[in-house]
Amino acid sequence: MPDALVYLGIGSNLGDRGAFVRAAVDALGRLQATRVVALSAVIETDPVGPIEQGPYLNTVAVIETGLGPRPLLEELHRIERANGRDRAAERRWGPRTLDLDILVYADMQSDEPGLTIPHPRLAERLFVLRPLAEVAPELTVPGTGRTVSGLLASLEQGGSA
Ligand code: ATP
Ligand code: CA
Ligand code: CA
Repeated sequence: MPDALVYLGIGSNLGDRGAFVRAAVDALGRLQATRVVALSAVIETDPVGPIEQGPYLNTVAVIETGLGPRPLLEELHRIERANGRDRAAERRWGPRTLDLDILVYADMQSDEPGLTIPHPRLAERLFVLRPLAEVAPELTVPGTGRTVSGLLASLEQGGSA
């Protein structure tokens, strides 16, 4: 199997956010059979949703990896834990030191317990689409028939993406 091109969302809104984002990128580069091939700029974004919390830093990393989606997700959870994330102590969509999401994994479409690919809320999130459009504007998001730049334009115009 050739390595897969994978787009990852990185977010942090607790503690030294910049240090957590850098630590995440470093850790991705150390994963087995994995290279970081591109990074978007880091942007600061207001939190979305009902929970009062501080602003996020968000970025998107592009990796090439020989890891399958499930082993990759396990590694992402391990990196989150190593950077102070404690899922047992947090609320869903509450503040966290580090959040690593698989946005797109090659041309895969998958909806299994605990792993949905592409990420199901990608098209409704400016904090995902903006950095993703920086590194992959022409990428067609599997299952949508839409490019990242097209999804971003729809969302920015306030239409349904
Ligand atoms: P959101 O999924 O809306 O971005 P979140 O990132 O805050 O929310 P988490 O609490 O980090 O959600 O993760 C909840 C669960 O989502 C994880 O246990 C994980 O198994 C599952 N999950 C499903 N699909 C994905 C994916 N594509 N990338 C990362 N986690 C996923
Ligand atoms: Ca997330
Ligand atoms: Ca997550």
